[in-house]
Amino acid sequence: MQSQIRTVAEIEYTLTRKTVKNLNLRVRTDGSVAVSAPKRISVQQIDQFVLSRKEWIQKAQQEMAQRQKIRQQTTLPSVEQCMAVFEPISQAIYPLFAQTLQNNMPQLKVKDMKTRWGVCHISKRTITLAQQLATKPLPAIEYVILHEYCHFVHANHQKEFWALVEQYMPDWKIRRAMLKEP
Ligand SMILES: [Zn+2]
Repeated sequence: MQSQIRTVAEIEYTLTRKTVKNLNLRVRTDGSVAVSAPKRISVQQIDQFVLSRKEWIQKAQQEMAQRQKIRQQTTLPSVEQCMAVFEPISQAIYPLFAQTLQNNMPQLKVKDMKTRWGVCHISKRTITLAQQLATKPLPAIEYVILHEYCHFVHANHQKEFWALVEQYMPDWKIRRAMLKEP
């Protein structure tokens, strides 16, 4: 495995050659860009690929920076900060449940909750999330929001409920474990 640092149109990225099938691009939590690629793809092609994703990369870096700021705060993130993190995730998950919800997107609420990450009020079509949740890793936040959405289908925590969570998020156990990280 060999790595090199490359720059294309002001985007710096670490290129690692691996025995992977496809090009993989990710923005790490610190905002750095990592690309892994198989040997058969030329660096020019890789640069081109990175360039084509420029807007996406910059947006991801902004999100990471915002999240980083929240995580460094010693006080609870504000409702606005929480909403900025939670809303896009809810919007991404909602289409999976649009039919169940008869095309009414649930309302998101945020409050200081010490004992739970989220609550789903089925009849009010509301999901309330803990302000504390915004300080957790993104995959864990996605898990909590999906979990609450699944309650619109199954109000309990029985087998069918967990089967639904698993169907949409096969790695939910790993994500849930991340909630325990400081
Ligand atoms: Zn639940």
